[in-house]
Parts: sequence; structure tokens; C-alpha cells
Amino acid sequence: METKKCIKCEIEKSITEFSKHVKYKSGIRNSCKTCESQVKKQWKIDNPDKVKEERKRRKQKNLKRLNRGGLYWKKIRLKRLMNMVLIIVFVVDVIW
Ligand SMILES: [Zn+2]
Repeated sequence: METKKCIKCEIEKSITEFSKHVKYKSGIRNSCKTCESQVKKQWKIDNPDKVKEERKRRKQKNLKRLNRGGLYWKKIRLKRLMNMVLIIVFVVDVIW
């Protein structure tokens, strides 16, 4: 099992305890997940405004996604309706 020493807590841990990062040569971060989550927590405490902003942005993103989803269902419903109309037109055509 591969291990790596965390630069923050200086504990040798399994590489599964480190999150991946494309920026680093090794492909994994220099600090372990535990330390990272602590840093994140501290950052949230230090930057409440940014956290609020981020939350707002995420909410807007979700709303956009939901709207897109709604459009998708509208399209499908319209398609079904068109098919129904086509069938009715066809049936009427046959009967007459
Ligand atoms: Zn650590």
C-alpha cells in the first residue's frame, strides 16, 4: 500500500487519505483529507460572505438546470401531443 506524508499534520497516511489533484506532479494533494477539511472549515469561518455568495451561485445554477429540465419535459409532451394529432388526422383521413 502506497503511503504519503501529509505536510500539515506530518502523519504518514495511505494515499487513499489524500484527494486527487491534477495540478500536482504526483496527482494527489500534499495535505491529507482530514487537514483539508479543517482548512475548508476554517476558510468558511473566515469568509462567511464568500460562502454565502457560493451558496447563492450554486442555487442559481440548480435553478437553471431545473428550468432546462422543465423545457426538456415540455418538448417531450409537445412531441407526444404532435404524435396524437398525427394519429387523429390519420384516423380521420381513413374514416372519411
Ligand atoms: Zn494531514
